[in-house]
Amino acid sequence: MAEKGIHHITAVAGNPNENYKFYTQVLGLRLVKKTVNFDDPSVYHLYYGNESGDPGSILTFFPWKHLQDGDPDRGQVVAVSFSIPTGSKAFWLDHLRDHNLDIEEPFSRFGKEVIGLQDPDGLHLELVLDPTANNFEGWPEGPIPEEHTIRGLHGATLAEENYSGAGRLLEEDLGFKLTNQLESRYLYETDADFGSVIEIIDGFDLNGRPGKGTVHHIAFRVKDEKEQDSLRKQLLNKGYYLTEVKDRDYFKSVYFHEPGGILFEIATDPPGFTKDEPLDELGSSLKLPKWLENERNIIEEELPKLNN
Ligand code: ZN
Repeated sequence: MAEKGIHHITAVAGNPNENYKFYTQVLGLRLVKKTVNFDDPSVYHLYYGNESGDPGSILTFFPWKHLQDGDPDRGQVVAVSFSIPTGSKAFWLDHLRDHNLDIEEPFSRFGKEVIGLQDPDGLHLELVLDPTANNFEGWPEGPIPEEHTIRGLHGATLAEENYSGAGRLLEEDLGFKLTNQLESRYLYETDADFGSVIEIIDGFDLNGRPGKGTVHHIAFRVKDEKEQDSLRKQLLNKGYYLTEVKDRDYFKSVYFHEPGGILFEIATDPPGFTKDEPLDELGSSLKLPKWLENERNIIEEELPKLNN
């Protein structure tokens, strides 16, 4: 069995340059892949992560400039959190304030300190001081001193009318365990290195609106296509509607909606981001799937340039 947990989270942004600047220069993540939305190649698909782009470290964006602002609420992911080392609180508070970001006073939740902030499109982010973060590597060649780098995703928070549908799916099918509860917030965890936490807040009664600054979907890890196929069958047997397997070049994916309406994906760990460029060149050039290569000139012309 592979490690369970989050494979990646994909969200919607507005301006690709603001998004790129924020995630690489303010948060210090590595751009590990620069490609396009396979279903809409006029738009980038930007992948940020740790040095190797490990599953569980990846947050990706579709920067759809002309989309409306989203309004996260019921049936949506309302927070994306990253793990930082426990000794890095003072550094991050100073660093975020230096960038004139509105940050929340740090608070404690389920025994870990949390710093809340928003990205340029209003996506709610959290930096979580995580005792296990030091076991892992971030992106040492970015602007953040190596000892303070973000190491990967910590997790995500789902807003639901009732926690039990998604909760059962997490426990029965996706390898999570309910480990704690505080009022209407339920904590689910796996023992993965990164991306091992899903929190569900229940009691939401108004539907959210998708758009800029909201999460598009969460992908969960499987070891390989065989494990993906058996999980797909297991979920079909429970009455979920799942897509066919789609080739996303860096992983194979199937998609379905969890009972509360959030789009979930099951993604394979392999082949990963070194499939089409070496580790030290990740993210440095525009990568296209084979079937779009003959349109490269048009695609490159239409895409806004990313300024370093
Ligand atoms: Zn995805």
